[in-house]
Amino acid sequence: MEPAARRRTLAVKVGPLTIGGGAPVVIQSMTNTRSSDIDATLEQIRLLAAAGCELVRVAVPDETAAAALAELVKKSPLPLVADIHFDIRLAYRALEAGVPKVRINPGNIGGREKLRELCRRAEDCGAALRIGVNAGSLDRRLLKKHGGITAAALVESALEYLDEVEATGFRAIVVSLKASDVPTTIEAYRLMSRKARYPLHLGVTAAGPLDIGTIKGAVGIGTLLAEGIGDTIRVSLTAPPVEEVRVARQILEVLHLRPQGGPELISCPTCGRCTVDLVPLVEEVSRLLRGCPHPVKVAVMGCAVNGPGEAREADIGITAGRRRGLIFRRGKVVRTVPQERLLEALQEELDALDLSGEFGNAGGGEDK
Ligand code: SF4
Repeated sequence: MEPAARRRTLAVKVGPLTIGGGAPVVIQSMTNTRSSDIDATLEQIRLLAAAGCELVRVAVPDETAAAALAELVKKSPLPLVADIHFDIRLAYRALEAGVPKVRINPGNIGGREKLRELCRRAEDCGAALRIGVNAGSLDRRLLKKHGGITAAALVESALEYLDEVEATGFRAIVVSLKASDVPTTIEAYRLMSRKARYPLHLGVTAAGPLDIGTIKGAVGIGTLLAEGIGDTIRVSLTAPPVEEVRVARQILEVLHLRPQGGPELISCPTCGRCTVDLVPLVEEVSRLLRGCPHPVKVAVMGCAVNGPGEAREADIGITAGRRRGLIFRRGKVVRTVPQERLLEALQEELDALDLSGEFGNAGGGEDK
């Protein structure tokens, strides 16, 4: 089953990318180096690009960071978003440096006239703006009216800022509505998608470390994407930024919004029929698959009786018995090998894919 049809939004150009307008969902992340350290920032951007990131945000907290932007724009393999808080002059500097998109929280840049001026300058430079409403900086008036941080309060705040922006005629806008609470985030984006046609940047803010952050991101972002909402995503993790990109890719892949970029490992949860210590076996197969360039689905199952049938959708599968291991393809056992040769035999099957051309021979995949 495929996700719901994508809700049509306006197309916004960000350098060579298009966000919205039916374009593929764009994966974003953010560097955590000092932006003024140009070499370190570029090195991290290259790693993010290699992992599948398409748009990268850099913090611009001060003049030193702003001064680095022109060189970063020139050398970065990915289009940049300048992240600005409090000091609108830094946003002007970012536009002058050629940054194709600026992210602001309009609640902390010093008033509506400054927002309008920023729109006029962005229009002149052909740049886009992200209007990023954040639960932490909602206007007191809206908090009082809605009884706290609610989806309706986030959306009303965004719509008020959009009125200001639209009054200038500027339309290259992406909107985000960030809260760290997943149901509030989901509800806010659902509501927003019914009220305006600007592309939506999805994310659950301050989601936490890799384990819980992945769950929050997958549930929050995944729910919305499955409903056809969202044009660009950032999984927020307290982890190396490259992990954000891996999780983002996996969310898009499991929803069939991106082709699988490499092998997919499936394994059974084990039960009382299990005839092998499955956890270390799965870990070994996972390691082995890191070198595999093909979008092949590989199953590791816990018993020979039910395993091949339960993993019928797998291209290649293995299961181990007391002495012998089985190799199966799409549910049918094709080889029986001594237990100690099981991984070797799996590698042979994977190598055979290179020759068969079944999954293409591009060799451009990556570990999952
Ligand atoms: S494959 Fe076998 S061991 Fe694994 S869950 Fe199914 S029946 Fe249990």
